[in-house]
Amino acid sequence: MNTNQFIEIEEQYGAHNYHPLDVVIERAEGVWVYDVDGNKFLDCLSAYSAVNQGHVHPRILNAMIEQAKKVTLTSRAFRNDQLPMFYKELSEFTGYEMSLPMNSGAEAVESAIKLARKWAYRVKGVPRHQAEIITASGNFHGRTTTTISFSTEPLYRDDFGPFTPGFLTVPYGDAAAIEKAITPNTAAVLLEPIQGEAGVIIPPAGYLKKVAELCKKNNVLFIADEIQTGLCRTGRIFASQHEGVRPDMITIGKALSGGFYPISAVLADAALLGLFTPGEHGSTFGGNPLAAAIGRAAIGVLREEKLAERADELGNYFSERLSEIPSKHVKEVRGRGLLIGVELHPAAGGARRFCEALKARGILAKETHDHVIRFAPPLVIDKDTIDWALPKISEVLQLS
Ligand SMILES: *Cc1c(COP(=O)(O)O)cnc(C)c1O
Repeated sequence: MNTNQFIEIEEQYGAHNYHPLDVVIERAEGVWVYDVDGNKFLDCLSAYSAVNQGHVHPRILNAMIEQAKKVTLTSRAFRNDQLPMFYKELSEFTGYEMSLPMNSGAEAVESAIKLARKWAYRVKGVPRHQAEIITASGNFHGRTTTTISFSTEPLYRDDFGPFTPGFLTVPYGDAAAIEKAITPNTAAVLLEPIQGEAGVIIPPAGYLKKVAELCKKNNVLFIADEIQTGLCRTGRIFASQHEGVRPDMITIGKALSGGFYPISAVLADAALLGLFTPGEHGSTFGGNPLAAAIGRAAIGVLREEKLAERADELGNYFSERLSEIPSKHVKEVRGRGLLIGVELHPAAGGARRFCEALKARGILAKETHDHVIRFAPPLVIDKDTIDWALPKISEVLQLS
């Protein structure tokens, strides 16, 4: 079957909640993906940063196969021999004392919200069911009914109310607005250190630091959603580290499995994560032995292949070269590490047609929020491959 035949079947039988580029991928390796018509493309999206380690990394693949042959699911009714080691290795890698394993990113955010609320009632002394959580405009924390309740994107929200109460939204990048919004009932501030889905929005310098100070001063938890920015993508293990900030809780997902399996987690120290008691929270698949074995290998690759350092070095190189491209369409090139956004002027007519043109030249990138092209290749990319891509990107950005 060819590309068009696959697309026809997908459109007929599947819900239309995505608008993908019309490329049907059948196999991938490292930074490259191959379609059913025999074309090869450089992946510049990395499944929204889930494949930081590169597609089908052999070490993670091997861990998955070996574990799948032994035992895949025990449920948490019984213990398994992979989860303890996953906890320990994740703690050593991230510097947080404990973690709570879930599956999707949205579930990790939901778990962090529940934990923040419990902390507010049991530790801070907020009257029961009065806890407030402050979020930022332009946020993306997932697609569940609670996480879309505080979205500011009409498309994600408008047809899906009624909404979960207990959330306030202030402008992103404005620490003073957070200070004003804090009340004695505030449990937490929930933010992305860089807003990926909003178009790689980098807040003003000092913002995260200021927010962390405000939280500390007012006895409020600082929760960083690093599901996209974490695990080496921005040149640090966590993007919060660019400002020397250590949030009280971090949510991670995506690259926690290197793209093999949905695995997410909440990270925090024992004083906080220790608050959950048996039965209060859970997940049938969360922390299963297959996920834990894959997660261990995925973390091992991030650490041993020094992917944070690599993202830092190559990200700076890629950003600099991109900003040198003479294009009347480009408003701004911004990024940290290998999370790079090229924002186009509205007159360029939207980023989609540039993504189509990149695809025709063997590069897969995806527009975000109409006017931004995101360049976020797997962190295992090398300089030669970036140098291969640059003239093609340059040509596309200079189309009329
Ligand atoms: C992708 C993402 C999520 C949601 O993750 P899912 O696995 O799709 O549920 C949440 N927050 C951020 C910042 C993300 O990028």
